[in-house]
Amino acid sequence: MMTAPASASPLQHDRFMTRSRRIASSLRDLRNAASQLPDAVVLLDQNQHVRWFNHAAENLLGLSRPKDRGVLLQQRLATSDLSDWLRDGTLEPLNDVSAPGHPESHLNVSMLPFGRRQQLLLARDISHLTRLEQVRRDFVANVSHELRTPLTVIHGYLELIDPEDVPELASVLNEMRVQSKRMGQIVEDLLALSRLETQHQIMDERVQMAPLLATVRKEAEALSQGRHQITLESSAEADLLGSPKDLHSALSNLVSNAVRYTPTGGNIAIRWQRTPDGAAYSVSDTGFGISATHLARLTERFYRVSSSRSRDSGGTGLGLSIVKHVMNLHQAQLRIESTPGAGSTFTCHFNQARLLPPGGGDEG
Ligand code: ADP
Repeated sequence: MMTAPASASPLQHDRFMTRSRRIASSLRDLRNAASQLPDAVVLLDQNQHVRWFNHAAENLLGLSRPKDRGVLLQQRLATSDLSDWLRDGTLEPLNDVSAPGHPESHLNVSMLPFGRRQQLLLARDISHLTRLEQVRRDFVANVSHELRTPLTVIHGYLELIDPEDVPELASVLNEMRVQSKRMGQIVEDLLALSRLETQHQIMDERVQMAPLLATVRKEAEALSQGRHQITLESSAEADLLGSPKDLHSALSNLVSNAVRYTPTGGNIAIRWQRTPDGAAYSVSDTGFGISATHLARLTERFYRVSSSRSRDSGGTGLGLSIVKHVMNLHQAQLRIESTPGAGSTFTCHFNQARLLPPGGGDEG
């Protein structure tokens, strides 16, 4: 408690005491409010020693009073998922980690600097959101799985009927075949996305780039049917470490998009080149291009610049979403540059750790 200066008159003394009582009461209110917050709050000094924490921090982080006042937080949580993050001292929030004091709960944790090099650790319980996300993922995966068999049967029967036997229904039959094939492709893409979303790691294998690039180019030529000039430049002299199936799917998705969104007569260039910190696979086209307002949302599921153009060209709206997930699993980045009316370049940047000298078979 503060004391009034010795030279103060009785009136000044009374005023001083009233003010200091008011400040003390406001401080108490603030502290009581903070201690009742549903988010965990921990006040740290400049060396990350715990100065104060609220009730939620006891529950979610497993801190206890009074024993944990003054302890080094990183040491106290050394066995938890927060340990490395606290040691690195990064200000980037940490998403979806299990709660040290409540392992079945999931947390989002952030660190806010304040005052004189002090820090405030905030942890929010996101278990409810994680559960909802899981329900959504399971629902999509289950629906896709359930649709697969009936669609295969419908598709099979449609293939059995020869349009020449029923000429009056030929156009209807053709349209039914196209649509059932499209539905089948949507289901396959949704299943691929569900698998990629639940996968946190991949089994690393050598992915030989020379044959993969040749396959991707052949696929592009088959899809283009001579409508575009397609070139391949491969100067990186490197193979990749990753999942052959997923990388094939991602790299060919970009080429297929280039073919589908480039009018007849356009050029498509596939490149595999070194960069200062790794290597880049890119696909450039001289197609319709995409205006800047759409770029940030392109990798969202079913996001299309033009639905009719996507559908007419056989798109499912899921291709770039798949590419983004595959890149995340390989710690790679997808970058998109585009000018409406002039064309686009989609580039996948792989870091050095993902590269192997070309060849194969001897990496153990
Ligand atoms: P879709 O199956 O519709 O092609 P994608 O996820 O592969 O789905 O792409 C999303 C959208 O991004 C497309 O609908 C299209 O509008 C746009 N897009 C993708 N690639 C290109 C490209 N090379 N040129 C122009 N637009 C593109």
